Amino acid sequence: MTMRLIIMGPQGSGKGTQAARLATRVGVPAISTGDLFRWHISQETALGVLVQSYTAHGELVPDEVTNAMVRERLNQPDVASGFILDGYPRNAAQVGELDQMLTADGVALDAVLELTVDRDALLQRIAMRAELEGREDDTPDAISRRLDIYTEQTAPLTHAYADRGLLVRIDGAGAIDEVTEHLAAALEGVAR
Ligand code: ADP
Repeated sequence: MTMRLIIMGPQGSGKGTQAARLATRVGVPAISTGDLFRWHISQETALGVLVQSYTAHGELVPDEVTNAMVRERLNQPDVASGFILDGYPRNAAQVGELDQMLTADGVALDAVLELTVDRDALLQRIAMRAELEGREDDTPDAISRRLDIYTEQTAPLTHAYADRGLLVRIDGAGAIDEVTEHLAAALEGVAR
């Protein structure tokens, strides 16, 4: 069975954690653009050097760079069975770009999962993560910039996917296991 999914949600919604868990269950790779960028930055690749100033400030990396990186990742053999995209698409142009990549491969998305969590809970979780992980972009300015970009550019994308009948909204406020079960149950309805 193939499964092509997007998981959306603001920073702190737990989408990275849930993407990894679902990927294991479904048997497809979780592809996180944030993780890919962090890997490049840690290895000081040319791409890493290029994107570091954007990610550090919570700004989006330019679309050409992000799209090319995703395109290359989606061409890897392990993606034949599907994928869970985490952190992409993040704006309307990236939605169009992803559509083109999939159409070119003759495949389509099965569902778009959106994790919803209210802003206060998000800020609490992010503050906790900042202490635990010490991510470079978990400064108050970069955090609020990312939340603003999510609200302005990324959250509206859910409407486009809802119009296509792909959107599944899941409450992300519960315990990690509970949210995973809700997501898995939602996918039962999607499996084909
Ligand atoms: P978050 O905790 O905000 O969900 P991510 O780990 O997904 O963060 O992404 C970290 C940073 O990587 C973003 O703030 C942005 O600079 C960059 N990034 C990740 N995905 C994209 C994308 N699809 N388009 C542009 N920039 C991106």
